[in-house]
Amino acid sequence: MNKEITIDYDYEVSFLATPIEPRKFRVKLEDVIQLYTGKGNVCRCGCAGDYVTLAENPKRIKTALKRLASGNYKTTYIDNSVCNELIVEMTISEETDRVWTLYVKKK
Ligand SMILES: [Zn+2]
Repeated sequence: MNKEITIDYDYEVSFLATPIEPRKFRVKLEDVIQLYTGKGNVCRCGCAGDYVTLAENPKRIKTALKRLASGNYKTTYIDNSVCNELIVEMTISEETDRVWTLYVKKK
């Protein structure tokens, strides 16, 4: 049986992120460029983690947005105006240095 995959591009979450002053963001699924899952304190070439794009794995990226919206994870951001990109990072586990990092297109 074929299950049709529908991507809800308008799916949107709100969340708070630090440093300095916590700032509130709204992120739409359609604006997510990619997700990094892996070790945090290493280079990001992909040697200690994986990158997926929205097209490759919309379900995983939606899971990331749900995690953001849950407020259960320490979340930091980098507002990269040069690339017009917002980088949002959740600490999944401090113990094992696991992070999920979302790269989001800014409008
Ligand atoms: Zn590397």
